[in-house]
Amino acid sequence: MSKLYLIPTPIGNLEDITLRALRILRDEVQLVLAEDTRKTGMLLKHYGISKPMASYHQHNEHRVLEQFVSRMLAGETMGLITDAGTPAISDPGFLLVRECIKAQLPVECLPGPTAFVPALVNSGLPADRFVFLGFLPHKKGRLKRIASLVESPYTTVLYESPHRLLKTLTQLAEVLGGGRQAAVARELSKLHEETRRGTLDELIGHYGNTTIKGEIVIVIGAAQTEPAADEEETIYSES
Ligand code: SAM
Repeated sequence: MSKLYLIPTPIGNLEDITLRALRILRDEVQLVLAEDTRKTGMLLKHYGISKPMASYHQHNEHRVLEQFVSRMLAGETMGLITDAGTPAISDPGFLLVRECIKAQLPVECLPGPTAFVPALVNSGLPADRFVFLGFLPHKKGRLKRIASLVESPYTTVLYESPHRLLKTLTQLAEVLGGGRQAAVARELSKLHEETRRGTLDELIGHYGNTTIKGEIVIVIGAAQTEPAADEEETIYSES
């Protein structure tokens, strides 16, 4: 039976694609839906895979959804690939998944690269319970979203662009207090990967004095309203 695969691709290091992702791209997928066909074409070429591709991105997804779902219903298996990481995580994909489920088409997201997991784990902040907020809105609702973290008992993960990092850290410090623990993960899996940990004020002090380049994830510690994770029981499995 035909199916939709969501296929995670490397966020920087080309070794980070899984063996299964390569096999499914090679042997099972008849059409690759790509956020950027040029980028995905180069990636597939790197792994020695040649497949027909079609564009699927935020500017055409509403328009092309129905056509791709009909083709899958008629028997084609498709693989969705975004520019980096896992499709539908701050990337196109959700609408297609929802339409496939409505049409009773099987959907399978392969496990694989995504930026927020290594950023969260490297931060050293409790990773047993966390909230992922993706990108903050640029204008409307931005401060409200930040204010929702004032008493949050969870570690929070945000995506950010380098040119907005300082502004965002400054707004976070204004609302949450400059003493809140945080971490900035930059260029994960790439040559210049770094994780900088400290209070929001310390991070502002550092990034205020440096040119900020590369891709960024911000991790913010929980408000100190509950016992810290190491003071209470952490459950690792159901048994
Ligand atoms: N789908 C992707 C995922 O699974 O992580 C996210 C796509 S979103 C359009 C791009 C954002 O992810 C970047 O602006 C940055 O916040 C984060 N990101 C992607 N690659 C990264 C990397 N190598 N290092 C740090 N952050 C990264």
